[in-house]
Amino acid sequence: MNRFLEKLRQFMQGRNGYDALCYFLFIIYTLMVVINLFVSSITMYIIELLLMGYIIFRVLSKNIHRRQKENLFYLKIQNSVFGFFIRQKNKIRDIRTHRYIRCKHCKARLRVKRRKGKHNVRCPRCRGEFEVNIRL
Ligand SMILES: [Zn+2]
Repeated sequence: MNRFLEKLRQFMQGRNGYDALCYFLFIIYTLMVVINLFVSSITMYIIELLLMGYIIFRVLSKNIHRRQKENLFYLKIQNSVFGFFIRQKNKIRDIRTHRYIRCKHCKARLRVKRRKGKHNVRCPRCRGEFEVNIRL
């Protein structure tokens, strides 16, 4: 067994391996397989095969630089999607105590205390000042 693991380790040396994009694609693949149990479509089966082929290609690929670029592109999209939901969750969590606004100069997101009326706000990123009117 130890000898087999050593051979496998040698085989995988210099290859991309399993990354976040592969993990995501594998989840999609699994969902498609489960859905196809009920639908049993030949088109979906072909797409599943192509997807699994792409996952295996990515794991075994020796062009690590290119695979890492693809993975980084995927991670950017994933972070923007997750970031949106995290911001919404924070807005709901802080609804009684804070308001979220945009800086009028650099468009940075700012969290200000909830105090009714007009206030001057200084952006910590660009140091620009602007007036905010908090109604509720
Ligand atoms: Zn700013």
